[in-house]
Amino acid sequence: MNKKKDTLLNGQFRFKLLPDGALDKTKEICVLCKSEFNYHRSSSSLSYRLKAKHPGVAETLEGGGLRQTTLPQFGAKGGPLSKQTKNKLTEAIVFWVAKNCRPVNIVEDVGLRDAIRELLGDSSYHLPARKTTGVCIPLH
Ligand SMILES: [Zn+2]
Repeated sequence: MNKKKDTLLNGQFRFKLLPDGALDKTKEICVLCKSEFNYHRSSSSLSYRLKAKHPGVAETLEGGGLRQTTLPQFGAKGGPLSKQTKNKLTEAIVFWVAKNCRPVNIVEDVGLRDAIRELLGDSSYHLPARKTTGVCIPLH
């Protein structure tokens, strides 16, 4: 059981699982939206797709993961966050839960929510709904 072998681009993409349990190494699946792509043995094409479909996640990956140092920019301007910024953050959190197989009810954690609100300076921020985070597929 080697997680690194079956996933691509930091876990954002997985090889397609065939009905017989083998992996189809010519197809990769986006773990966030379940889109299927032909895999060309190039992570640059994966990065391109990721940026096109999930810009918030792409930024998070380029920053080396969900690091605190990438978060202050969200609330740096002071005023209320834009919808786009909140969506990016929400997507990053959904990705974090999916990638690391965190329990989905972590998004109902009031302490986590309050910490993020404090960091953002925006008390109206809501963590992603639990149903949107139920995307973790345990690696076999
Ligand atoms: Zn996707």
